[in-house]
Amino acid sequence: MANWKESKFYSILNFKCPRCHDGELFPPNTLYSPKRFSDMYESCPCCGLAYEKEPGFYYGAMYVSFGISTAIFLFIFFVLNFFVKEFTLTMIMTMLLVVVIGLLPITFRLSRAIWINVFEDYEGPCNQIKKREFKPNKPPQY
Ligand SMILES: [Zn+2]
Repeated sequence: MANWKESKFYSILNFKCPRCHDGELFPPNTLYSPKRFSDMYESCPCCGLAYEKEPGFYYGAMYVSFGISTAIFLFIFFVLNFFVKEFTLTMIMTMLLVVVIGLLPITFRLSRAIWINVFEDYEGPCNQIKKREFKPNKPPQY
């Protein structure tokens, strides 16, 4: 790995655009807002990459999010295993609630950041690559 800032881990852990690693994926100061944690920019504010490549693009991110939740749950379970003699159903349910609901904003955003990084590669700093013109998708009709 040549450079930390060029790696996909940088983009994922900092919630940055996978193409330029400069623009944000999500608006600032919304992670812990119950109504706004799911807000995501439609395109990169810096290089113009469309974040929602097609309608329902992030459907697959749900599987990533499921995997993250499962991994965190198992980790907590194994750690607690050293301190707890016997797990009760209440304890397991509490752990699940904390992991699934309590960490929802983080797993939601992490899974989307991972998902878009599967499909988009780093091209270079925002001021050195060609800006893409963003054509907004029509809102879904139900
Ligand atoms: Zn970008």
